[in-house]
Amino acid sequence: MSAKPKLSTKPEQFTESVIREMTRLALQYDAVNLSQGFPDFPAPEEIKRAAQEAIAADVNQYAITWGSKALRDAIAANFLRTQGMEVDPEREITVCCGATEAMIASHMAIINPGDEVIVFEPFYENYGPDAILSGATPRFVKLHAPDWTFDPNELAAAFGPKTKAIILNTPNNPTGKVFERREMEAIRDLCDRWNAFAITDEIYEHMLYDGARHISMAAIDGMRERTITINALSKTYSVTGWRVGWAIAPPEVTSSIRKVHDFLTVGAAAPLQAAGAAALQFPDSYYEKLAADYLARRDRLLGILTRAGFHCFKPRGAYYIMTDISAFGFPDDVEFAKYLVKEIGVAAVPGSSFYRDREGGRTHLRFTFCKTEKTFQAAEDRLSRLNPSRLRPIGTVSSRAKSRPPFWAGRGARDLLFLLRIQIERLQVLRHRHRPVKFRRNRSVKRIQRLRLAVYQKRPLRRCLKTGEPPKQFAAARVCR
Ligand code: GLN
Repeated sequence: MSAKPKLSTKPEQFTESVIREMTRLALQYDAVNLSQGFPDFPAPEEIKRAAQEAIAADVNQYAITWGSKALRDAIAANFLRTQGMEVDPEREITVCCGATEAMIASHMAIINPGDEVIVFEPFYENYGPDAILSGATPRFVKLHAPDWTFDPNELAAAFGPKTKAIILNTPNNPTGKVFERREMEAIRDLCDRWNAFAITDEIYEHMLYDGARHISMAAIDGMRERTITINALSKTYSVTGWRVGWAIAPPEVTSSIRKVHDFLTVGAAAPLQAAGAAALQFPDSYYEKLAADYLARRDRLLGILTRAGFHCFKPRGAYYIMTDISAFGFPDDVEFAKYLVKEIGVAAVPGSSFYRDREGGRTHLRFTFCKTEKTFQAAEDRLSRLNPSRLRPIGTVSSRAKSRPPFWAGRGARDLLFLLRIQIERLQVLRHRHRPVKFRRNRSVKRIQRLRLAVYQKRPLRRCLKTGEPPKQFAAARVCR
């Protein structure tokens, strides 16, 4: 057999998107999807009508590679309105297939071999692969919970002569942090000192709560010449599937971005660009209502998650809630996310997918709230079956018990394997005064309770399975990780 041609080593350095995988799992298990950030409510009538009219008017061929004039003009007018920044639509704007393409095209336009890019962690999962695919080495700087601030010394230590750019996402996915002026000025000083760019993803600019204000990096004194501002129609107009985004950058940078973009995709969908031009002229009241609606959705989901036992980090922007899942006692975020989607019927994104070192996100899950009341209601109903206050520990777990298969992962062989482990554990307790196994309360897994309690109580397993009677004194108890 002849040898197979070798694949690129670049994709070996990252995994498929976990966010998108969670949506596939949600469909597979018919779960309420609070994982991937796409609205499940309709886009505004006006933007849809504008797209329909554009197609009817035969706007069906390529737009100018770097974007139709109408859309670029509208983007420039919008940037002036929101940030007071004047940009030249002829030389400083490139329309791309979504913010995703604008981001990778911007990387490829500025990166040379050996360059480094700085990424705040947790980060939107695309930024790691963006760096790798463009040939840069990512360097990560932690945003520290609960308010997701960075340590200026840690940031300064990440900059150096190899730093080509820092990636900023404000309002931030997944944390909901909105970067403040003093933080952006600290970043500016470092960019200035090390002659680096800032690539800023500002796609959630209109989703702001509790008085938070969005500041564009390009509007910070001295940053206009070193900033590439990324944005898109997706979130602001609830059209994530349209794939229309853009990059705003100084002329020299833009001409490099335009060349990359041209050979990557030629151009974004022409009729949807026409619709985008119309949408960008919506009155202020559209954005005010958008923010108010999202505030109500944020508070609704905060309530649901808090009642279900999650510790929530209250977001000041964007449309995600990062949570702490320690109270549930699962060994990690991925197992808990799988349990939630398969057994409870709610999909969320494991926190580790926002961290290079997966350990960092082990205790987190991200939920999105760009959803309708119907979806929230369904999520609330399902999550009410998950109440950590019922999971009351009455002991500690030995390392052997921790390594057993998850209690929800299946029946048959897994149960028996687990029972054997528990039996061994029990003997250890008796013989060596080993640490006892922890029990917690939960009424939902009765069959497994019976099996486990039978072992603990030395009751004949077969009889217990037959009668289905859990021993009275331990009714509703189960062994928990
Ligand atoms: N930005 C959205 C999220 O974080 C959607 C990501 C995607 O799948 N493109 O969930």
